[in-house]
Amino acid sequence: MKNVLVTGGCGFIGSNFVEYLVSKEEYHIVVLDKLTYAGSLKNLEVIDSSRYTFIKGDICNKKILNQLFEKFNFYAVFHFAAESHVDRSIDGPEQFIKTNIFGTYNLLEVSRAYLNKLDSKYKFIHVSTDEVYGELNDDDFFTESTPYNPSSPYSASKAASDHLVSAWARTYGVPSVITNCSNNYGGFQFPEKLIPLMIINCLEWKKLPIYGDGQNIRDWLFVKDHCHAIELVFKNGNLGETYNIGGNNEIKNLDIVNIICELMNELKPSKNGNYKNLITFVEDRPGHDYRYAIDSAKIQNELGWKPIETFATGIRKTIRWYLENKTWWREIQNIKYNQERLGNKKL
Ligand code: NAD
Repeated sequence: MKNVLVTGGCGFIGSNFVEYLVSKEEYHIVVLDKLTYAGSLKNLEVIDSSRYTFIKGDICNKKILNQLFEKFNFYAVFHFAAESHVDRSIDGPEQFIKTNIFGTYNLLEVSRAYLNKLDSKYKFIHVSTDEVYGELNDDDFFTESTPYNPSSPYSASKAASDHLVSAWARTYGVPSVITNCSNNYGGFQFPEKLIPLMIINCLEWKKLPIYGDGQNIRDWLFVKDHCHAIELVFKNGNLGETYNIGGNNEIKNLDIVNIICELMNELKPSKNGNYKNLITFVEDRPGHDYRYAIDSAKIQNELGWKPIETFATGIRKTIRWYLENKTWWREIQNIKYNQERLGNKKL
């Protein structure tokens, strides 16, 4: 079996990706994860443990990376590890600079050092975000040639990491592909993010805080559709290129919350009444981008990718997941995060 490295494999998308890849039979997966507040081994409990090796470690630690590359002769690296929450990047950008920029630099350097020893088909898949492109007005879409214009410390750090990957490909020939994806949702997403936060707050009959007037627009993609796209990019994507991945589901934040409330009214009616009564408008996020929207024609036309879930089917599955996995999010509440507001600390 070929060895592949998944960094950040205990986080939301990383753990969904490990589960997805295990269903493909072909690989032995080495999961490297620092287990920050956002990562948990619980996220891998659904997966056959003979199919992966877990290593607790930091991508900023080059010694660990060297040991892993020495031992496993990797066929691929799927690089998910990152600090990923915009609000936390506003409160404390330093760890974003370290992990997202310096950590990616380390992985690229180790890839470069081991290039001659690695599998001849080795590929470095860098998982990034559409937020690197900045905000859109009402009409445009992000394409792969949209200039970078990041707004938050998070998106700036991801933009920097994307540039490093492109530079290491061009200058040193590190075989790599970059993906820029829109907002993901699904099971195992940490409750600080919009969709799980709203579901859990409904279940606890807590206020549903909407930033600003709730008119900001995001494109949403079910996480397993993202996993499929990454697999296709790995198998058939052209080296040195970028692929935008999006769900063609542009929705205003306020509409997302209304949809969640309607489904919660149906799936888990509350004795307190309609969940929509909990909606409350709060101070906006500083630097809040108005709209993101992805043109995913390239990956659709070149690699034949298409999302399977619509937002209607994906959000229903996601709500059911949070209803059925209360122990998972209750543990997070007890030790890590209890749905408090982030990203608005006054200096
Ligand atoms: P997440 O925060 O849920 O998980 C990140 C994981 O990385 C955690 O398991 C954490 O422990 C690990 N990690 C953090 N710092 C590390 C370090 N220094 N060394 C090793 N491991 C470390 O994030 P996510 O939402 O799953 O996002 C994964 C990747 O996908 C990120 O690179 C993110 O930028 C990108 N992305 C996310 C979205 C989204 O909507 N969530 C959309 C597009 C792209």
